[in-house]
Amino acid sequence: MNKVVIVTGGSRGIGAATSMLLASKGYAVCVNYHSRTADAESLVTKITELGGKAFAFAADVSNEDDVVKLFDATEQRFGQITHLVNNAGILFTQSRLVDLSLERFNKVMTTNVTSCFLCCREAIKRMDSGGAIVNVSSAASRSGAPNEYIDYAASKGAMDTLTKGLSLEVAASGIRVNCVRPGFIHTEMHADGGEPNRVARLSSQIPLQRGGRPEEVANAIVWLLSDEASYVTGSFMDIAGGK
Ligand code: NAP
Repeated sequence: MNKVVIVTGGSRGIGAATSMLLASKGYAVCVNYHSRTADAESLVTKITELGGKAFAFAADVSNEDDVVKLFDATEQRFGQITHLVNNAGILFTQSRLVDLSLERFNKVMTTNVTSCFLCCREAIKRMDSGGAIVNVSSAASRSGAPNEYIDYAASKGAMDTLTKGLSLEVAASGIRVNCVRPGFIHTEMHADGGEPNRVARLSSQIPLQRGGRPEEVANAIVWLLSDEASYVTGSFMDIAGGK
């Protein structure tokens, strides 16, 4: 069976590294993104030049109609969807809970958790011959991210619980659902939090004494999706340098 995967937020950072690695292993990849078309298209060009199969599709994965269009477009292009990586995620400026607006809290929840629910639902409806899903949570679901992003950490906690419940619900249908929890990884996301050099600042607090690379997270995601992980479901892999 052809391997067809959607990587949400697949155009930059961890998602881009994952899309590249999946394409190199023979998956046909839908590189989903939100608004930065040039980044997504240039990744697709890179994958194609290396002999892989990919296309870019803009969709806000917190929006139900957009998610259906994303899955329809991928099936039209490549056939039945067999794999999914729920990677799209956002955070905003570091802040204490007392200063968070309701609007911000809801935006983080819909982008990080509602998206995961919508994409999982759409995938499971279509995976009638089994499949595999990996959710990209965060070490913040364990730390709680006080004084920085409690909203973000709470959204990742919800993602962990969704992973656990769904993995049990669909195991007998041959669909595996797992989760990775990255720690401090060098991507542009930290600039959105107001501190582009956050990973470097915190490096000495990480047991392995450095931040992680997107490719190091991609390796775990791709393994969990693969047949090598055929007896793994409902699992959580911390990729956080020991933190
Ligand atoms: P990033 O570099 O900021 O990239 C975010 C990606 O998500 C981009 O492709 C972006 O598209 C897309 N995106 C944002 N909102 C979207 C939406 N509503 N619909 C569809 N796509 C959307 O992020 P990253 O650091 O690689 O993080 C990827 C995942 O890893 C996130 O879930 C994050 O929470 C998690 N994580 C990251 C770290 C870290 O240290 N970096 C640590 C733990 C967990 P555009 O380019 O179009 O905006």
